[in-house]
Amino acid sequence: MGFADSIWSDPIEYLRAVGPNDPVLFMSPAALQAQARRFQSGFPGLVTFAVKSNPEEAVITNLVAAGIHAFDVASPEEIALIRRLDPDAALHYNNPVRARHEIVFAVGRDVASYSVDSLSELDKLFAMVPVTRENGETVEITARFKLPVAGATYDFGAKFGATEELATEILRRVAARGYIPSLTFHPGTQCVDPQAWASYIRAAGRIADAAGVRIHRLNVGGGFPSHRLQSLTPPLDAIFAMIGSTAAGVFGDHAPALVCEPGRALVADSSAMLVRIKALRDDDHVFLNDGVYGAFAELPLLGTLNRLSVWSPEGERRTGETLGRTIFGPTCDSVDRLPGETPLPADVQEGDFLLFQGMGAYSVPTNTHFNGFGALAVQMVMDLAS
Ligand SMILES: *Cc1c(COP(=O)(O)O)cnc(C)c1O
Repeated sequence: MGFADSIWSDPIEYLRAVGPNDPVLFMSPAALQAQARRFQSGFPGLVTFAVKSNPEEAVITNLVAAGIHAFDVASPEEIALIRRLDPDAALHYNNPVRARHEIVFAVGRDVASYSVDSLSELDKLFAMVPVTRENGETVEITARFKLPVAGATYDFGAKFGATEELATEILRRVAARGYIPSLTFHPGTQCVDPQAWASYIRAAGRIADAAGVRIHRLNVGGGFPSHRLQSLTPPLDAIFAMIGSTAAGVFGDHAPALVCEPGRALVADSSAMLVRIKALRDDDHVFLNDGVYGAFAELPLLGTLNRLSVWSPEGERRTGETLGRTIFGPTCDSVDRLPGETPLPADVQEGDFLLFQGMGAYSVPTNTHFNGFGALAVQMVMDLAS
């Protein structure tokens, strides 16, 4: 993966000039910074970025330029990346399971906050993380809890998160040891239901009450939705308002500072993906030069993404009546197909290009090189076209 020095006006200008045979991800720094500012002005607390959703350097540096200086990191490599690109950033190490050598690494890089969801992992932190950082500040430990909440596209609680009872015990122990006691949750990615956050925030209130601990911060996770379907604009403002009003109602005068750690919703809509049709077969089968082993890895889990346009090799938009097509990726594996049917203009041809919007999250880092495919160039654009 590499970046060119030039910035193109939009993906279609590049398409006309280069006619790329390999997939290209187009990133708009202006769109990324605008979304960062939307979060910072709309979310009632601190906005941090979940690095795993897109660890490209250009993404991190543009977020830093937009004023984001706190990051959710999950591994030594992500910690080192952020320390290099934004040396004074606040690091929140929110992978609740860590090997001992990873904790040593984190302590050496002055991580400010750790999340945890089990007593055994908590004991590791107690044994290895000094309460006080070099700058005199106290380390924060957040208890991560889960609820069985519907509304998310997939359930993060299946892997991480303590029950309310266990989170209560963790919070009590954290406070007794002198670390900053806080709570966190993740409602599940691409969650379009503001009520999911409300349910979690009410649970946070119950946990803090039961523990008899005044929590310092409440991290309401990632999970904020991006724009995947033409017909569904992500309800970000409603979610922000619900978080603010629920926290005020639950905690009153003792409201903790709020933190969020979006991945997807910060970066997805700042990039578009250009792929090419290798072949049309059997009337309605379309073979692309990228698929679920590349930038479309998430689609089988999250469902189709229908914000796309179709372009001829000359850069003319195809606008005919649409027909549902079955789309396959380039590998020889039969799972390599996009879910359901994708509507494409009836006059689509071999050699045409598909431009998918909303492709900036979980598309670059999940790219494998399976079967010899997966070359992916990244280009900068002023505008993403549509
Ligand atoms: C992946 C992850 C996020 C980001 O989730 P999105 O759904 O992309 O917003 C935030 N926090 C934690 C702990 C995560 O693991």
